[in-house]
Amino acid sequence: MSISISFSNLRQFSACAEQWRRSVQHGEPRPPNSALPVGSVVHTVRDRFIRRCVIEGQDFTDEERLDYLHDQIRSQITHREIHFTDEERQDIPGTLRRLAEQAAKLHHKDYTAFYGTLYSAKSVERTIRVEVEGWPYKWSGRIDSEHVSEQGHEEVKDLKTGKGDPETTEVLSLQLTMYQHLKALIGEPTDILSIDWITKHAEPRAFRLKSPARTEEEIEPLIRRAEYFCDMVEHERYPPADPTSWRCSPNWCGYWEDCPYSTRSRRPKT
Ligand code: SF4
Repeated sequence: MSISISFSNLRQFSACAEQWRRSVQHGEPRPPNSALPVGSVVHTVRDRFIRRCVIEGQDFTDEERLDYLHDQIRSQITHREIHFTDEERQDIPGTLRRLAEQAAKLHHKDYTAFYGTLYSAKSVERTIRVEVEGWPYKWSGRIDSEHVSEQGHEEVKDLKTGKGDPETTEVLSLQLTMYQHLKALIGEPTDILSIDWITKHAEPRAFRLKSPARTEEEIEPLIRRAEYFCDMVEHERYPPADPTSWRCSPNWCGYWEDCPYSTRSRRPKT
């Protein structure tokens, strides 16, 4: 598996490097009982579709929307570890259609939260992968969207959905820092970083948070993390998660059953 310096790799490595080693570096499949339930696919596809509609300012007829969601769900199910119930497995076409309809309903409810604030993007879900002298792995990431404001400012945006209203500090996220840094590596400056946030309430609410681009000093923590990641991988050091963390539990980690570091194996024998 090719390793890259991406936000998701840095995040997973710092949460549990052992989990990263097994899932990303070795591509070790997780046991079937830890596969993702189909509901998580519906939410992922819905989020991607909101991106297209909200960020690109593009709209679809009901039929086009269902076709698009259906294709996206089929492709997600092919590429991810999905756990079907016996009933779902008996009628795969019917299951896909039902999932697409669920995603369409969710989409409609959440999309309306952003009506009136649509504006077009110059790119959506753009992947940057760049080799940089002195680094053992490529830097990589996929930027949700890029825009140019009326004042000519270059803006990079992340779109998120959350259970509650966002903290204002969300806009300081390392993910946005990574977006800015990736663009800088290919010679493209950024002026503004922003997050469009939709809450998952029965009546979704929309927020837009903005910040000026990071200073060099503010990018430094990202560089330090990337150096740590590369150094640890090179020396094959994979510190496990804090065993009391919520991540290190059978509900959140597919390797928990046979992981030598999980709390279960450390319980005193009675
Ligand atoms: S069980 Fe805990 S220590 Fe083991 S891989 Fe999962 S999160 Fe990491």
